[in-house]
Amino acid sequence: MKQKTIFDQILLGEIPCNEVYSDEKCLAFKDITPQAPVHILIIPRKPIVSLQEIQQEDQALLGHLLLIGTKVANDSGLESWRTVINTGEESGQTVFHLHIHILGGRTLNWPPG
Ligand code: 5GP
Repeated sequence: MKQKTIFDQILLGEIPCNEVYSDEKCLAFKDITPQAPVHILIIPRKPIVSLQEIQQEDQALLGHLLLIGTKVANDSGLESWRTVINTGEESGQTVFHLHIHILGGRTLNWPPG
């Protein structure tokens, strides 16, 4: 059986999180090591490893996650923000449960490192 990720443990309530939004499809919470004044993670309840694993049946779920990204960004007072989805180790993915980063509240550099 696949080992539980830290985000599986958060979804199961085994590890606490600073929740900002929750519904039947996803959970949004503050990143434990924020890289900007606002740094929120949105994760699906469905255990998808990364964008590498998505299926046609996930289309509506992925759209929902982006809509919630805009909601939590607006609720945090952001008018400008960056949405990041790291996919695979070389991209910087460290937790292998799909997640969307919402980063804002400061000027962000481009290109990213
Ligand atoms: P990745 O590098 O996989 O794109 O992003 C994983 C993110 O999860 C990192 O920004 C990291 O700070 C965050 N993170 C790791 N463990 C925890 C945790 O236990 N709680 C919270 N809230 N965030 C975590």
